[in-house]
Amino acid sequence: MILPAVTQLLVIQDRDRKLRQLNLELKNAPIEKKAMDARLAAASAALEASKLKAKEIEVKRKELENEVRARHDRIAKYENQKLATKKNDEYAAYDHAIESLKKEISDIEDKEMELMEAGDAQKPIIANAEKEAAETRSLVQRQIADIEAKVKALESQVAEVRADRAKLATDVDEDLLDTYQRLFEKKDGLAVAALANETCQGCHVKSQTHIVNAVKAAKEVTNCLNCGRILYAEV
Ligand SMILES: [Zn+2]
Repeated sequence: MILPAVTQLLVIQDRDRKLRQLNLELKNAPIEKKAMDARLAAASAALEASKLKAKEIEVKRKELENEVRARHDRIAKYENQKLATKKNDEYAAYDHAIESLKKEISDIEDKEMELMEAGDAQKPIIANAEKEAAETRSLVQRQIADIEAKVKALESQVAEVRADRAKLATDVDEDLLDTYQRLFEKKDGLAVAALANETCQGCHVKSQTHIVNAVKAAKEVTNCLNCGRILYAEV
């Protein structure tokens, strides 16, 4: 047998526990949203990094192109000066300078080729990062919409349970409700506990015989001597 007032408290406790759970889920929603935003930011950053690398390669390649052009200009200048000179040693010096510029050009062109290969290798990496970022974007949009829908559903459930709880509370003695509320806060959401095998299911301490008898008699509200929770006999 359970005291009617305790039965009412059990129903209220059920609503309060539900509210706790709902509020916990509501609290998680912005954290889940933030994690989604971080995921999108990471995908966008990876894409930007791959594009930046390609740009850097291209800039370097253009620099080398200019270096080659500058050397060709110098070669053209030396060729003209060479034609104008009548001195054999000067003539040979121009030839020598032109040869070493040609060698430099060949070395620079090798490097240019390497950069072009690196640039080509970067293309599929960018394409992949683009695909990944697009997929992540649509996934994140979907999940954020889900989270927002969940929040709305949770909020309406909270309102419902709260209204129900308020209605139930009007039928309970004010002092008893106060005691219950204090216990609910202090005892981690379990103010009313079953007594099973003479043991309080809140603190798992065996109750004394007079407590067990009082709980079974269900004539008045009886508390666990160890944890203070309101007890009811489990049937
Ligand atoms: Zn106890």
